[in-house]
Amino acid sequence: MDIKSKIRVIEDFPKPGISFKDITTLLLDGNAYKEAIQTCIDQLEGVDYNVIVGPEARGFLMGAPMSVMTGKGFVPIRKPGKLPGETLQHEYELEYGKDVLEVHKDAIKPGDRVLVVDDLLATGGTAKAVCELIEKLGGEVAGLAFLIELNFLNGREVLEGYNVYTVVGYD
Ligand code: 5GP
Repeated sequence: MDIKSKIRVIEDFPKPGISFKDITTLLLDGNAYKEAIQTCIDQLEGVDYNVIVGPEARGFLMGAPMSVMTGKGFVPIRKPGKLPGETLQHEYELEYGKDVLEVHKDAIKPGDRVLVVDDLLATGGTAKAVCELIEKLGGEVAGLAFLIELNFLNGREVLEGYNVYTVVGYD
């Protein structure tokens, strides 16, 4: 199946000049969604990980089904004030301003081998922040998996030193 053909591209969203990759059309086709998740898992053959971590909200749409299909646990990363237990926060720079992500402190144990997942790799800023949060808790980033990569934004450079896996790319 051509997974890319299931992803809808919407021009000028959320701002003029941005060509948004909309995965909701993929999600709507259960078989295509399942194949996308399976392809994402298959390309990780040989990667040794015991837990999957994904940032809200679209990271959940990748991470949760990957967790169910592999039997590895899933850890949600959220914006501040959403997680009920004791959290660790990480502040990171955006193009304009700052953002904060949180994780439950007891969700990652020292020595855990963590797979970071999200729907899309753009500049790599979000994924880098997630990696830093995991490493602050003593986890080791075993790899990062994305459904989509925007090749022209060179997110891989920001993630240099990490193993990055993607299913479909846009030039
Ligand atoms: P980055 O931090 O790599 O610049 O941006 C990646 C984050 O922004 C991901 O969490 C992703 O969900 C979101 N994102 C940015 N652009 C798009 C897009 O075109 N389509 C989708 N689905 N998500 C995007």
